[in-house]
Amino acid sequence: MNCNEAGTLAARYADGEIDSLQGRSIELHLRGCAACAAKHRGVLALRAQIRAEAPYFPATPALRERVRALLANAPDVVPTPPRPQRNRWAWLTSGALAGCTATVFAFVLGTAVIDWRANEDVAVEAVATHVRATLNNHLIEVASSDQHTVKPWLSARLDYSPPVRDLADEGFALSGGRLDTLDKQRVATLVYRYRQHTIDVFVRPELAHAPPALRTVRGFNVAHVTGSGMDWLVVSDVSADVLTAFVQRLARDAPSQ
Ligand SMILES: [Zn+2]
Repeated sequence: MNCNEAGTLAARYADGEIDSLQGRSIELHLRGCAACAAKHRGVLALRAQIRAEAPYFPATPALRERVRALLANAPDVVPTPPRPQRNRWAWLTSGALAGCTATVFAFVLGTAVIDWRANEDVAVEAVATHVRATLNNHLIEVASSDQHTVKPWLSARLDYSPPVRDLADEGFALSGGRLDTLDKQRVATLVYRYRQHTIDVFVRPELAHAPPALRTVRGFNVAHVTGSGMDWLVVSDVSADVLTAFVQRLARDAPSQ
């Protein structure tokens, strides 16, 4: 087996999807070829990292049904004998997570599933957005503790002007802001520090339908209030009572627009 052949089989090998004879050949090649062995380790490391760090939500029964229905109706690119529905789902959930190509696919699918689920639940979407910004190191686009810097930066990029206040004297220091997306709309996002914690505050004009006041999603607390003509949704790992008091304070005392 040469490097080309090993490269072709690498993803399926990492996936445990090749027969024992091919497995034996690729094993021998990896033992003798430092370059391919390094690539193989890279595939395994990437898979482990994505498993550890990618936001993950268990699929709801409703989502499973929709994915099943989609798969049942999707035309196969290459005609294959029909598989039982159960096996298709098992392939999606377990097989797709392994291997290089498959891992990238799973990552894309995972993001799609998050987005899909998020449309049904803004609190879940807010947490996914917060986690994504944290992992991408993209929490802050305008770094300032000065409300007179952060507010105009956001106002210039939105069709509304979010109230911005620094509450450092109460322990909530304004760090800056960014533009993010919530409910398919661009939303002003204020970033505060409370002790060692980060708090994301999504501020947008008041909504007709309000999410619940408090929820916990994957260990993050999500608090929501309306006030001063705005909708305030905050996400953080600070305790629920601290977060609730903070968002109520922001909404109650926001200067009128
Ligand atoms: Zn090689």
